[in-house]
Amino acid sequence: MTSTTNASALSTAELSALDRRTLVHPHTVIGAPAEPLVLDRGEGALLWDTDGRQYIDGTCGLWQCPVGHGRAELAAVAAEQIGRLEFFSSFGDYANAPSIRLADRLLSLAPAGLERVFLTNGGSEGNETAIKLARLAFHHAGSPERTVILARTGGYHGMGGGSLAATGIDGLRSGYGPLLPDVEWLGKPHGIEHGPDATDILVAELERRIEEIGAHRIAAFIGEPVLGVGGMVPPPEGYWPRVQEVLRRHGILLIVDEIVTAFGRTGHWFGSEYFGIEPDMVVLAKGITSGYIPMGAVLLGRRVLDLADGATFLHGFTYNGHPVGAAVALANIDIIERENLLDRARVLGARLRERLDTLTELPHVREVRGVGLMLGIEFDGLPTAPVQAACRADGVVVRGSGASIVLSPPLVITEEQLDTLADVLCRHVAAAAD
Ligand code: PLP
Repeated sequence: MTSTTNASALSTAELSALDRRTLVHPHTVIGAPAEPLVLDRGEGALLWDTDGRQYIDGTCGLWQCPVGHGRAELAAVAAEQIGRLEFFSSFGDYANAPSIRLADRLLSLAPAGLERVFLTNGGSEGNETAIKLARLAFHHAGSPERTVILARTGGYHGMGGGSLAATGIDGLRSGYGPLLPDVEWLGKPHGIEHGPDATDILVAELERRIEEIGAHRIAAFIGEPVLGVGGMVPPPEGYWPRVQEVLRRHGILLIVDEIVTAFGRTGHWFGSEYFGIEPDMVVLAKGITSGYIPMGAVLLGRRVLDLADGATFLHGFTYNGHPVGAAVALANIDIIERENLLDRARVLGARLRERLDTLTELPHVREVRGVGLMLGIEFDGLPTAPVQAACRADGVVVRGSGASIVLSPPLVITEEQLDTLADVLCRHVAAAAD
């Protein structure tokens, strides 16, 4: 196949055609490529396509961008680090200064009890790391039969062998043959599905499942503080501290997947803080660099470190501890702090929520929910794709996730942009039943 030499000189129509001839996008039908929206640049909460059309970013792509698009400061930090030391492996006894500083910074922000950091390149890799380490820790501590991972319906933990095995979303797991064995399921932690006693019901289910499986066989429980891909679903009141208590009583490690919830989205650095829990491992990605460079981390607590003390962790990916990612993460955290973005998530989240709550009067809206600046609107029996398409045609990017429209704009979105987003979305949600 001959290459198109100067792709930057192509028109939008040519780029689109070339995209469909050359790329397979994630989560698409092979052989039936969609017409892409070809994005060209971004600034704050705004995006522009290659035709110069402007969009308000209501999702941060995949929830990854608290500080907003187009920060020259982050580009400069990345360029400086690439010029100094672009990369060298951190396997074994090699290190680099940005990674060391980032680990220290993350631990200074993290929930109590987290004492070490394993750096990764993204979210799935972080969950693979946490799952493997939970199993290795018990193996090393003389309980090799503790291999079971408790996971929840509606949870999303990534696309790797282990992280997908622990993902409880219909459809995503099928067609790949056997996945990681010894994953056991719990119900979806969604209040509306269990009624006013939801927390009691879910905690009783957890106790029952532990009894059935045998605590001596269970290594860890994995969960997102707020289900993200599952539709921005916060758990029912009081759920997390009670789950933590049950797990601790049975010696089961708690892995909290904060890939979406950390770095301000809930109005706190970590969702664990918001829900008042102290996990044994916390998995981070996305907002750690605001997506400017792929990066992730697993924070490790005392219990797992004690269990695994002396074990050789034969695990790691080439680009772990990437100095450019670490340098950008540090500068990104500086921005979140300097611009008070945690407070902003709380204030803007409340403002958006007030607007969206009016939608609950519509017969086809089952629920409006969320925490901070991560919100979901669940439909009852209507597809979300037409609303997503209508919003995009009106210059607003939102995302359909299962039966829900999910929202997580950059935390720097202006009040005016947020109100426009709410106007456009509310109009199209209201019209969805027409
Ligand atoms: N966990 C959660 C909660 C996520 O939302 C995602 C991605 O959306 C992942 C894990 C997987 O992360 P990645 O796509 O970086 O591998």
